[in-house]
Amino acid sequence: MSAPALSAYRGRFAPTPSGPLHFGSLIAATASYLDARAHAGSWLVRMEDVDTTRNVAGAGEHILSTLDAFGFEWTGEVLWQSTRHEAYAQALEQLKNAGLAYGCACSRKEIADSSANPALDGGLVYPGTCRSGLAAGRSARAWRLRVGAGETVFEDRLQGTLSQHLERECGDFVLLRADGCFAYQLAVTVDDFFQGISHVVRGADLLASTPRQIYLQRCLGVPVPSYAHLPLACNAGGEKLSKQNLAPPLEAADAAASLVAALRFLGQPAPLDLSRAPIAEVWVWAFENWNFAAIAARPATASA
Ligand code: GLU
Repeated sequence: MSAPALSAYRGRFAPTPSGPLHFGSLIAATASYLDARAHAGSWLVRMEDVDTTRNVAGAGEHILSTLDAFGFEWTGEVLWQSTRHEAYAQALEQLKNAGLAYGCACSRKEIADSSANPALDGGLVYPGTCRSGLAAGRSARAWRLRVGAGETVFEDRLQGTLSQHLERECGDFVLLRADGCFAYQLAVTVDDFFQGISHVVRGADLLASTPRQIYLQRCLGVPVPSYAHLPLACNAGGEKLSKQNLAPPLEAADAAASLVAALRFLGQPAPLDLSRAPIAEVWVWAFENWNFAAIAARPATASA
């Protein structure tokens, strides 16, 4: 892949348009935005609509209007992953040509029948059935990345040194799915490079994905950004807030109160009476007082 111009700090927020933004998304948006501002950097928005099975009609536009109502200002045009198939296909081609990607004929059931090892993402470690070629008469349904033995180690700004043994904990992972969608891991890696992202600040739910992304960056010969994984907001039942468990959507009318709550969740002592102030005043406080070091590293609980 060819390199974009070298630049200073470039951060991003990359929501999936599977529903409206919630308090958990606001935490990721706020921390990535303030970290970029504190470094006099740019902050980009990328709409991760690569997985067409998860997209909800109108959700992308709704997310952008919510970000706007909350006073976020992003650099340049929003990048929609649905416009990036060509780039993902090229990256896959590069990996195939390097002998790093291979076609896989296995169905979910075949994998379930031949693997007993749970993978970090909740699935099963791929047992490597098609690693040395497809059996006679079988054709590729998906494409996988061949992972090497050994640890992938990285330093997270919040979580410290982390290490994953990809072969054991994850296995050869999917780049192009059987349903024709490019996988999140490939799309995010290609786009973080394409957008020249130097710093990724996002929720700790993506921590287990980071070694796969770093491994892919190395395979594609692109730089590895700096990573910071934020504590996750949970509901009263201790589950991570998500669209799947129907976390309440952010309301533009409560923007100041929600932003104050997000700042406080991030360890920033925003005065509670700012909750009734115009949103611009909350941002003034946040720009002046942002202290990355005050963020608690460990997953924590907060009410939405
Ligand atoms: N699109 C992912 C999500 O909404 C975030 C991806 C990322 O920040 O790398 O969970």
